[in-house]
Amino acid sequence: MAYDPGNIFAKILRGEIPAHKVYEDDHVLAFLDIMPRAAGHALVIPKAPARNLLDVEAGDLAAVMAVAQRVAQAQMKVFTAEGITLTQHNEKAGGQEVFHLHVHVIPRHAGVELLPPLSHTEAPDVLAQQAAQLRAALMG
Ligand code: AMP
Repeated sequence: MAYDPGNIFAKILRGEIPAHKVYEDDHVLAFLDIMPRAAGHALVIPKAPARNLLDVEAGDLAAVMAVAQRVAQAQMKVFTAEGITLTQHNEKAGGQEVFHLHVHVIPRHAGVELLPPLSHTEAPDVLAQQAAQLRAALMG
């Protein structure tokens, strides 16, 4: 399947729509999911076009995973998390809704279930505050 540059994460990368960014370098962007399955739920994406795991360049995938690790470490501090769940969906049958590769990085607490996908839209001011906390932890 071909990459469609009209997808919403491509629009975020082009600056056409806003995002609560937590980390950015030449190859990778991390930002908060607007419909988090737990507080602090972040998405890590390559800047290069890639539909999903099936077509991403290996170097971009490695860069995404290295940032996912750093975001997870920051989430452990900021959200006093007890664990981290990574999810990553590929193609419609694999649960993918947005067709630009992304890794979900989700802080977890013992005994707290994830919210169902797309069930809760977080308030922008809450996301802005959480993103600021994560940016600070990632710089520290
Ligand atoms: P997936 O099922 O892995 O493709 O998940 C797509 C994710 O993108 C969902 O968790 C959505 O909540 C999230 N999402 C959709 N639009 C945006 C957006 N504009 N900013 C941040 N996250 C988004």
